Amino acid sequence: MTETAKYDCPMRSKLSVRCAAAAIIVVLASISLLASAAKADHSLSKLALPVDCNLGKDCFVQQMPDVGPGPLANDPLCGDATYDGHDGWDFRVRSVVDVARGVPVVSAADGRVLRVRDGVPDRIMVDGDDTAQLEGIECGNGVVVEHGSGLTSQYCHLRMGSIVVRPGMPVTQSTQLGLIGSSGQAQFPHVHFAMQRDGAAIDPLTGRFLREEHGCGPTLSGLFAEPVRRMMERPALAILATGLSSMPPTLPSLVAGEVPVAKNGGEATLAWVWAINMRQGDQFRIQIVQPDGTTMLDQSTEPLPRRMANYLAYSGRRRTIVPGTYRIVIDLLRDGVSDVTTQMAVHVKK
Ligand SMILES: [Zn+2]
Repeated sequence: MTETAKYDCPMRSKLSVRCAAAAIIVVLASISLLASAAKADHSLSKLALPVDCNLGKDCFVQQMPDVGPGPLANDPLCGDATYDGHDGWDFRVRSVVDVARGVPVVSAADGRVLRVRDGVPDRIMVDGDDTAQLEGIECGNGVVVEHGSGLTSQYCHLRMGSIVVRPGMPVTQSTQLGLIGSSGQAQFPHVHFAMQRDGAAIDPLTGRFLREEHGCGPTLSGLFAEPVRRMMERPALAILATGLSSMPPTLPSLVAGEVPVAKNGGEATLAWVWAINMRQGDQFRIQIVQPDGTTMLDQSTEPLPRRMANYLAYSGRRRTIVPGTYRIVIDLLRDGVSDVTTQMAVHVKK
């Protein structure tokens, strides 16, 4: 039996931003003011990751900004890990368990807190939910930081009650602002990180305004520090979790932190895998090695007919789970070649 299920995660969020343009001519500037401006400019070309977590291991890029001008979604790496009109980077954690654990959201650069909103409850939205009640608070609990040179950064969907800064407060790079949550219009726990220059959305990876004709591509003139830029340039494809059980989980149950456990006597043995940002044509090769060392299953799923932001695949046999140590090997095949491999040992008690 081989089954697949889908769970696309379009997510729109916006903190209403009123921008007033003001022309200020400074005739006399003190040396200290000049020094602080120079410091701000320096930090702006070297943005830090806006989350304090191990990217690719315990937090992940789920969606990038849509940098193209037309209705076709185009991410900064010229791929399709985005949706039309999305204006920021979504850094996600796997589940509400991570939200409860607390993953810090930090300021990407030195600056001053401009606006804060708290008090919006955390909840995971599902398709069909009424979004009218979230009108105007799609961002949920959020922080906006101004960095000088017309640049601002915005951090959305923070955990209710986690924000530790107040408007007017100065922050340095990597200062904690709050924790990743799922407040506002969020279908998975994450922080939506968006930047603006003079009130217009820009992509910090490329350094270019969104909706430009040639918005994707080179990132060398972007705003991130070099090690961060290299991390962000990697494809957002990732395996989030895998496991052995008798019944497959569902994607909503995994986001809720409910992971099925393999039990002695279970009537079927199947391996499941949860991945994000899979492309059309991607496949999984799923192998289960039994406690006696023999391979019970070695099967590949059908090539995906289209991109899937979130994807769950499983494969197994109608065979009773026995005590001992099973081994699961998952290969993600891209263009027929293994692109990501993950293995795990599962101990089944008597
Ligand atoms: Zn987003």
